[in-house]
Amino acid sequence: MHIVDIRETSVPLQGDIANALVNFSEHTVSLVAVESDVIRNGRAVTGIAFNSIGRFAQPGLLRERFIPRIMACKPGALLEDDGRAFSASKVHRAAMANEKPGGHGDRAAAVAALELAIWDLNAKLEDEPAYRTIARAAGRLPQVQPIPVYAAGGYYYPGDSLGRLRGELSRARDLGFVDYKIKIGGAPLAQDLQRVEAAVVFAGGGRHVSVDANGRFDLAAALQYADALRPMQLRWLEEMGDPLDYALHAELSRHYPHALATGENLFSTPDTVNLLRFAGLRPGLDILQMDAGLSYGLTEYLQTVAAMEAHGFDRRQLLPHGGHLINLHIVAGLGLGGCEVYPGVFQPFGGYAAGCMVSQGHALPTAAPGFGLEEKPELKEVIAGLLSRAQRGVS
Ligand code: MG
Repeated sequence: MHIVDIRETSVPLQGDIANALVNFSEHTVSLVAVESDVIRNGRAVTGIAFNSIGRFAQPGLLRERFIPRIMACKPGALLEDDGRAFSASKVHRAAMANEKPGGHGDRAAAVAALELAIWDLNAKLEDEPAYRTIARAAGRLPQVQPIPVYAAGGYYYPGDSLGRLRGELSRARDLGFVDYKIKIGGAPLAQDLQRVEAAVVFAGGGRHVSVDANGRFDLAAALQYADALRPMQLRWLEEMGDPLDYALHAELSRHYPHALATGENLFSTPDTVNLLRFAGLRPGLDILQMDAGLSYGLTEYLQTVAAMEAHGFDRRQLLPHGGHLINLHIVAGLGLGGCEVYPGVFQPFGGYAAGCMVSQGHALPTAAPGFGLEEKPELKEVIAGLLSRAQRGVS
């Protein structure tokens, strides 16, 4: 069994929305197909994955460094010892040959797209949903309980209004959500407070609403917002300062008694360890949001989860960023605390297949093999484009 071909296509995100710092209309995502030599029903079994949402596609890094390194490996060198599955850790190691430590930027997302496609491929070889493959690899029972999910959104739109925000929350509630996250920091404090208050009233209390500043604030602004939001006892305040400003987070956690959240812009286990050492995060209270699709994939993510637990955090305090099917499977397979969902935004990648049945704030992966990306209507066309090339020559 070996890898025959690896292809990447860069897919633009749809929509014209913004958070406090970023407009997403120029963002792209790398969709990767890893084709095996295993033929079933006349088709090559092919792993499909992407590098999460909110950054950029990495066609250059993949084509110049990571794909050639994988394709240069000897037959059998990337298999598990029993030869029945591809080894994600061996793929990770081969991709990272001659890469120096540190500087975990865009390459972490490029490697992640490739590594996650191996998990999709292995699950398809076993003809099972990826969460089962992931659970077994992590030494966990491959069972799944309904997963707590929340609707992430509340972005700033051109010509925005409280009425538009309420309409968005109402549509999410109609889909089965009970918890919501909205953006702050993209408008003056007084206006943001009106937005948050409207969301709290809509949701039936601050425990159903979290807010996300996307790293915009300096310490003074973070403290000002925290003081203003404190009476609402929100579910959490997310990325109040720069993701690498651990001193800011430590100072904020000394002043603010309720939950804080961060971690989605840390792309490696060593970065997370520094966060745990220096940012004053509180086991049993604060939320971590590292995203495997931005941080080298699941091989490294398993080490990140272990580092969290070694620092006294429960894995249920990990609610990965991303809002897509791959992370739903990762949360299910690893027993994490839940995840965000982007119903209706960040297409074609955001949100789940209809069969995932969000109800009373919970979702479940379907029984589709792998991550089930092929079940998502918005993704069908782009995957079909990639697959038809990946399967060229197969009758
Ligand atoms: Mg966020």
